[in-house]
Amino acid sequence: MTGRPEILFPLFAGLDTLDGVGPKTSKHFEGIAVTKPRDLLFTLPHSGIDRQKKDSIRNAIAPCVITVEVEITAHHPARAKGRPYRISVDDAHESFQLVFFHARSDYLEKTLPVGQRRVVSGKLEVFDGVAQMVHPDHVLAVEKANEIPAYEPVYPLTSGVTQKLMAKAVASTLSRTPDLSEWMDKALKTREDWPDWHDAIKAAHAPETNADLGADTPARQRLAYDELFAHQLTLALARTATRKKKGIATIGTERLQARVRAALPFSPTGAQERAIAEISTDMAQEIRMNRLLQGDVGSGKTLVALMSLLITVEAGGQGVLMAPTEILARQHLEGLQPLAEEAGVVLEILTGRDKGAQRKAKLKALSEGNIHILVGTHAVFQKDVEFYDLRLAIIDEQHRFGVRQRLELGEKGRAVDILVMTATPIPRSLALAQYGDMDVSVLDEKPPGRLPVKTALVSTSRLDEVVDHLDRAMAEGRQAYWVCPLVGESEVVDLTAAEERFKHLRARFGEGKVGLVHGQMPPADKDAAMAKFVSGETKLLVATTVIEVGVNVPNASIMVIERAEIFGLAQLHQLRGRVGRGAAESTCLMMYQAPLSETAQKRLKTLRDTEDGFVISEVDLEMRGAGDVIGTAQSGLPKFRIADLERNAGLMALAQQDARVLLADDPKLETERGIAARVLLWLMEQEKSIRLISVG
Ligand code: ADP
Ligand code: MG
Repeated sequence: MTGRPEILFPLFAGLDTLDGVGPKTSKHFEGIAVTKPRDLLFTLPHSGIDRQKKDSIRNAIAPCVITVEVEITAHHPARAKGRPYRISVDDAHESFQLVFFHARSDYLEKTLPVGQRRVVSGKLEVFDGVAQMVHPDHVLAVEKANEIPAYEPVYPLTSGVTQKLMAKAVASTLSRTPDLSEWMDKALKTREDWPDWHDAIKAAHAPETNADLGADTPARQRLAYDELFAHQLTLALARTATRKKKGIATIGTERLQARVRAALPFSPTGAQERAIAEISTDMAQEIRMNRLLQGDVGSGKTLVALMSLLITVEAGGQGVLMAPTEILARQHLEGLQPLAEEAGVVLEILTGRDKGAQRKAKLKALSEGNIHILVGTHAVFQKDVEFYDLRLAIIDEQHRFGVRQRLELGEKGRAVDILVMTATPIPRSLALAQYGDMDVSVLDEKPPGRLPVKTALVSTSRLDEVVDHLDRAMAEGRQAYWVCPLVGESEVVDLTAAEERFKHLRARFGEGKVGLVHGQMPPADKDAAMAKFVSGETKLLVATTVIEVGVNVPNASIMVIERAEIFGLAQLHQLRGRVGRGAAESTCLMMYQAPLSETAQKRLKTLRDTEDGFVISEVDLEMRGAGDVIGTAQSGLPKFRIADLERNAGLMALAQQDARVLLADDPKLETERGIAARVLLWLMEQEKSIRLISVG
């Protein structure tokens, strides 16, 4: 169990053990991320060439690849250096030429002797009115013609790796590929009519027509499913492992929650109540909670977080809420502290700015249990931060928190319940891929009374009109954000842009009415600027994207985004989500610099037409692909070689269900199918997850 199964050894041997691959060429394969035969198996052809033999080039439309039988009629050696060597040939109806550059004549005389017949295959083109084939891909004696595949798969290549080398290496890999016992659910396999793994691999490498290259062929579907299943099995193992570790049953009394509810100017939405109930049920059990709270911007995740934290305090424990930025941490402090006070709960903040004696005092209070709830940045998880009795860790707005980091957090030696909150609605397939190890609560309902945000696209040439509009709105007591884009390579450039704009707007609206925040500001200045905007002292806040995530100022009802065309969809959605939080009707003005590229146009129109974060995320995925939407490197998502998150969403859901069912029936993977599934994990290089299989 601890080692790779022997049956897989040939696939994990050195590439130079393959026919046609030596130590030197094996290096070249790294260019296509192939370091062992196993990688070749999962590198599938992306297209194919029809090489069915024709009797003549007569009806061919050059340029095209063609295979014909010819008779060699004459050799015309190169007349000068750098000129080609030409060989005239006749097929059944036409004459044409084979052309070779830098060729050795003795070699050509031997392989293509005058008067003999050969089958040649290659690209036919017309040059100076003469049909010719430059360096045929194949030249074979007539009786060996069947060695040319009727349909030749075309693989991704890299320097030093030719199509021929690839074909040879793949053939050699296939010849050593074992039959493996089935890890797939039998009923699923029958229902989908998928082939066995080995047959699927063979079929995927031996397409006979273009149709065989489609992602929807049974062979490729099966192989994609295998990848997703291995990934989901890993997530399911992680989930089982966390759930198995004894957690602390944290049972609230609802005493503090009731006080906060009484102090709220509104009542929670149904979705918020549902999420709170799901969380408190999890926390009450002796398993570790590992839950994701997904809710679009403005859906009210903070209240859910507070209620959850209060449960821990009611039970005599502590909770921590971690935000990704200082601004957000402060905002949580400001929003939550009055409510906490109402309930008699001590809530404190800890960030990188706490130093020396002040920090020491906070750490002491924390370790003695005199701080009940801690909010902060990453600083809250520094080594020397000790809690008296930490029960719940909430991670806010951290869609970049990968599976591994979550596991690490869980391993902090404490039986901490974990709640991750994300405001980035992500398509279902990605949610399953990235958060498949978690249980999910969704806030699919916005607080009542929200008016839709009116979104308009405005050319930068109308900047003056926009400023006039702001003037009128500010006179009515409304507040606005003005977002300056990340235009340059460096922060410095962006900063200049934002500062310039700030000066310009301040000159227009007057000193004291306009604020500025950006990432490079001294922290204290940033806080001060934010505080002035929150209190309404400044009416207009010029900002770089530091306000993107989470910032909440209900009275701000206008969002101006300069150069909106260079922002991503998700980012624009987040920015717009900063307004539309209060009673007034809100406006979002997306200023763009014409002309718009086609994709920029599509992005901006999508935003103008919908405020539904899920719809927007689907468009984003479709436009950019999974890797860019969540960033594969940070997300901890494996790079799938065959599966495709954009197209295989349905398969991902199936895989998750299947993986969870398998583990429920066979938690230690010891049945026949379970053992086969272990082999799959090794094959997919997910063997680290085998460690997670429950011991005892
Ligand atoms: P997000 O999910 O983006 O973090 P917040 O928690 O910041 O959203 O909430 C956005 C705004 O909605 C806040 O001003 C908050 O007070 C308000 N809010 C939250 N829940 C409700 C509710 N049930 N009814 C009315 N307003 C609410
Ligand atoms: Mg929030």
